[in-house]
Amino acid sequence: MPPAWDDLRDDTPRDDWNLQVPQFGEQVREWSDILDGVYWRSSEDGRGDPGGYDTSDMQRLRGLIMVQAAETEAVLGRILCKLDTQASPGKMMAGVLLKKIWEKLSDPNKITWQSHVCQIRKAQKRRNHVVHNRVDTGYGWVEYATGDGGEWIPFITTMGDELCDGRELSHDLALQQSSTVLAIEILHGLSCSNHDRADRCPDWWE
Ligand SMILES: [Zn+2]
Repeated sequence: MPPAWDDLRDDTPRDDWNLQVPQFGEQVREWSDILDGVYWRSSEDGRGDPGGYDTSDMQRLRGLIMVQAAETEAVLGRILCKLDTQASPGKMMAGVLLKKIWEKLSDPNKITWQSHVCQIRKAQKRRNHVVHNRVDTGYGWVEYATGDGGEWIPFITTMGDELCDGRELSHDLALQQSSTVLAIEILHGLSCSNHDRADRCPDWWE
């Protein structure tokens, strides 16, 4: 009998883990690069395989986008609990959470917060794009002017069906940060409709 799925659980407490050092250093290594390193394939034309373009900056931005989105989610969880004390947002996907919030909003609040919810929803879509796609680099072979050989040059970096560069990812991070701000504005607005900066406005984030 082969082992069952449940036999494959590893519940070793964290203290007992042997701390490992990432074998490729603190970077993302494309699977095709790893493949080339582990199963070396001869190349018939002597050009070798293209690879090695350092996308660390973009990978870092992807990480920041995901983590900032998690900050927004934490606020959304508080909003839902404010609207529905029975709610348990802990394990909800972000999209479900936002939809639940929308359903619980009163009609006047829907009108007040529609633009906020719309922008948060857009940020969630961008976050999902970043999570569910890989950064992929396309190379082209460029002959040296001297005529003796050439080299692979990274031509294009894409993520999913979109061009990907630091500027676009930075824009996506900006969306995520705004989204957190907007979520906090909703959370505040649901408890305090007449905010005066001179007021202390206590406990609205609870
Ligand atoms: Zn207030």
